[in-house]
Amino acid sequence: MSTVLGNFIGGQFQPAASGNTLENRSSVTGDLLCTIPRSGVEDVAAAVDAAKAAAGPWAKWSVAERADLLEAVAAAIEARTEEVAAVESQDTGKPHRLAATVDVPRAVANFRFFASAARQHHDGCHEMPGAINYTLRRPVGTVGLITPWNLPLYLLSWKTAPALAMGNTIVAKPSELTPMSASLLAEILHEAGLPPGVFNLVHGLGGECGQAIVEHPGIGAISFTGGSTTGAVVGRTASERFKKLSLELGGKNSTVVFDDCDLDKAVAGAVRAGFANQGQVCLCGSRVLVQRGIFDAFLARFVAAVSEMAVGDPSDPDVQMGALISVDHREKVEAYIALAQEEGGKVATGGERPRFGSPLDAGAFLRPTVITGLSSASRTSTEEIFGPVVTVHSFEDEAEALAIANGVEYGLAASVWTSDLGRAHRVSAALDVGMVWVNTWLLRDLRVPFGGIKASGVGREGGGHSLSFFSEPKNICIALD
Ligand code: NAP
Repeated sequence: MSTVLGNFIGGQFQPAASGNTLENRSSVTGDLLCTIPRSGVEDVAAAVDAAKAAAGPWAKWSVAERADLLEAVAAAIEARTEEVAAVESQDTGKPHRLAATVDVPRAVANFRFFASAARQHHDGCHEMPGAINYTLRRPVGTVGLITPWNLPLYLLSWKTAPALAMGNTIVAKPSELTPMSASLLAEILHEAGLPPGVFNLVHGLGGECGQAIVEHPGIGAISFTGGSTTGAVVGRTASERFKKLSLELGGKNSTVVFDDCDLDKAVAGAVRAGFANQGQVCLCGSRVLVQRGIFDAFLARFVAAVSEMAVGDPSDPDVQMGALISVDHREKVEAYIALAQEEGGKVATGGERPRFGSPLDAGAFLRPTVITGLSSASRTSTEEIFGPVVTVHSFEDEAEALAIANGVEYGLAASVWTSDLGRAHRVSAALDVGMVWVNTWLLRDLRVPFGGIKASGVGREGGGHSLSFFSEPKNICIALD
């Protein structure tokens, strides 16, 4: 049964001013899940008006009061874990188990973490001869949060929690492909006692509603997570209007496996890094670089492990990979598998759609795919595919590994697998990325800087970085004489 979702403006769910709607279909069965408002300039203006009206009273809440509210939100999400995970799995096609063990707990953790971080946040005081300086921190005002479809609640909560903690009001837009958990979050925030107008949600298309948020003069900061091409448009539009800007963009991340690694751990880590969330995580290790001496042994074990991955019904607790986000996206991913073969690559496993003999055959499923024999400079090996496709390459020594890993336009993350401590430090320091994991992948401490360089983004989120982004420091210099 499908539902009708509304925008959430000034504490009320409501349709788009135009009355226009968009359909949101399941990528698992093709069924209609819900309709959402196709919002435009008018709806964004109404959301900004509501946010502006709420801003003064909200900024007067003390940090402790805001932190208490964030903790109540965390508890409310946690209490509804099964329901929220079901919605997220239905909307994205990801395994329910993944949503229940990663996406939802992470959303809970985000609210708890930023409650605690805000309570402890402080700025310095600088004495100088004849004067003293101290810093006041003020909210930016109304901020625009724009998020993608791969980790809908996880990423929206990652932005919403610090923005609220620092006293901002919000206009948020989730991807039109995954609107459902954002609506649930609006409901949870409201029920937890967030005043009307502090969190506003507008649904719709990126080029219409997203663009209207970035253009609106009443919005002082844009925190955007999405593709690098979209990020360039958002960056241009926001900078022309002198808005604060955080861009978390795409990645083409290397998993670098040295011959002194623990092979079992490296294989398991490379599988997880390559195919978590159907390969649809910006941090996924979609190119695996293996030192020549262990190349054959690694590849045999890697391919065996990938070919055994269970793909299927996201509600089945034994399934490791669900459906991709849409059949259109699967076509894009399949086009890269075809391109890989044109470029001289060989499909070592996967490359085809699984057959279930059930309604799931209408879903956007694709077997996890490993490609060998490609040049590390090929398009398949350097462009972001954002699906379950990993290319494997060999290298001779550290210098060659670094040249391959750094030879892409992106600079988000990497993982390094080695038992040599000196090498771990050397290679990590020389990788042109914002984040390196050694002998692990996607192990997150929410205090650390998160973000990339080159085409992977501008700025950092996480811990104090998020609190700084969502606030304006003001220095006060007092003469003592
Ligand atoms: P996308 O197409 O760039 O869309 C991201 C968001 O921007 C969506 O809400 C989209 O709305 C909206 N949008 C599109 N055009 C816009 C415009 N002109 N102005 C304002 N907003 C606009 O990305 P995606 O396909 O959803 O997500 C996949 C990408 O996100 C990948 O490249 C992945 O690497 C990246 N990502 C990065 C991180 C990170 O932290 N670095 C994390 C997750 C994902 P519609 O969906 O309605 O078009």
